[in-house]
Amino acid sequence: MEPEYSAVLLRYGEIGIKSRQTRKHMVDLLVKHVGTALREKGTPFDRIRTEYGRIFIETSDAPRAAAVASRVFGIVSVSPVIVVESAMEKILEMGLLVAQKHFTRGKSFAVRASRLGSHAYTSQEIREQLGARILEGLSELELRVDLDSPDQYIYVEVRNDRAYLFTQTVKGVGGMPTGSQGTVVCLISSGLDSPVAAYKAMKRGCIPVFVTFDNMPYSNEACANIAVKQASLLAQYIYDHEVKMYIVPHGLDLTDIVDHVPQRMTCLYCKRNMFRLGREVAIRENADAIVTGEIIGEQASQTSRNLRATSSAVCDFPILRPCIGEDKVDIEHLGMEIGTYQFAKENVSCCTLPPKYPVVRANIDEVGALEGGMDLSVLDKEISLAKVIVLRSVE
Ligand code: ATP
Ligand code: MG
Repeated sequence: MEPEYSAVLLRYGEIGIKSRQTRKHMVDLLVKHVGTALREKGTPFDRIRTEYGRIFIETSDAPRAAAVASRVFGIVSVSPVIVVESAMEKILEMGLLVAQKHFTRGKSFAVRASRLGSHAYTSQEIREQLGARILEGLSELELRVDLDSPDQYIYVEVRNDRAYLFTQTVKGVGGMPTGSQGTVVCLISSGLDSPVAAYKAMKRGCIPVFVTFDNMPYSNEACANIAVKQASLLAQYIYDHEVKMYIVPHGLDLTDIVDHVPQRMTCLYCKRNMFRLGREVAIRENADAIVTGEIIGEQASQTSRNLRATSSAVCDFPILRPCIGEDKVDIEHLGMEIGTYQFAKENVSCCTLPPKYPVVRANIDEVGALEGGMDLSVLDKEISLAKVIVLRSVE
């Protein structure tokens, strides 16, 4: 007899410590998103059921269902499982078959077991008895038990009348289910940091509305397209919500900035206007915040003083900077993990305006004063000219 993987066990970690009501809401969202993800990817499943602290997908294709579910926000880890009755003898019989199929000759192993509900045995008895059964039943494999750092494991999770056996735990994307938080406006350039920042906000349950500013005529035409590609990829992580992107022309106000401020201050005013335009989108989309990929000290406009000088342009929406303390190398790794690195590394120059010696410590009193002569109404015009595309629609 071959062990048959007929389900996937999903773990959701942190959600488990929420209040009962919040937990239920979040688990319901998870179940819905996992179901949508499976249907979208054409993965067969019979049903998704919840049990204290766990979600189970009943499926004839457990490996594929596990891979799909592991990419849903809120899922901490997944394991394809074999399901048996929780009688000790059934666990021992199946445990032996699992070891026979998965264990490598001459290697060490350990049994890990946990138990929920009342049973005639303890977790320790499962470990001892299954360990002994495997050593005896597979003596030709010359296995040995090592509880500290074994080469291979069998896990047994007993939950009431069923026991789940597995050998593999795959890390999920983690975070919180999409929609457990509100909408946020994610400012996406063609660079590396902003998609990673958006991902971090999305991972914690926020629904993104992406915005890219088209700097033409001060940029390369390819820039907005790269930003759209990045946002389209990020949108694939979102289930059961429409995902929109605004492509906002930003050349008109840049021209106004160039005409009014010393060259070494252009980036500061550019950022202030980006935040104002982001705010307009936030109002239209009933969003709660603006998300950027800024990192302390990464660019001249991102020194601590200049962050203060740029942030003051928008006071009624928080500007969230999920990457604020990251090192570049960490951002690169995350970008590779989530898939946006491939686009960012195209490394197209997206603004021809940055001065050679930008201001790194803006005089806060001066910043507002210089804006007096500018025509900020061009921002309304730019917003009215924005192109809005739907990256993901709800079935
Ligand atoms: P990135 O952080 O995406 O790599 P960058 O390092 O070149 O871009 P800046 O140009 O200083 O950084 O921009 C800081 C933040 O402002 C970006 O992380 C992004 O959130 C936002 N931003 C910059 N340019 C654009 C743009 N053209 N469209 C939308 N958002 C932008
Ligand atoms: Mg950056």
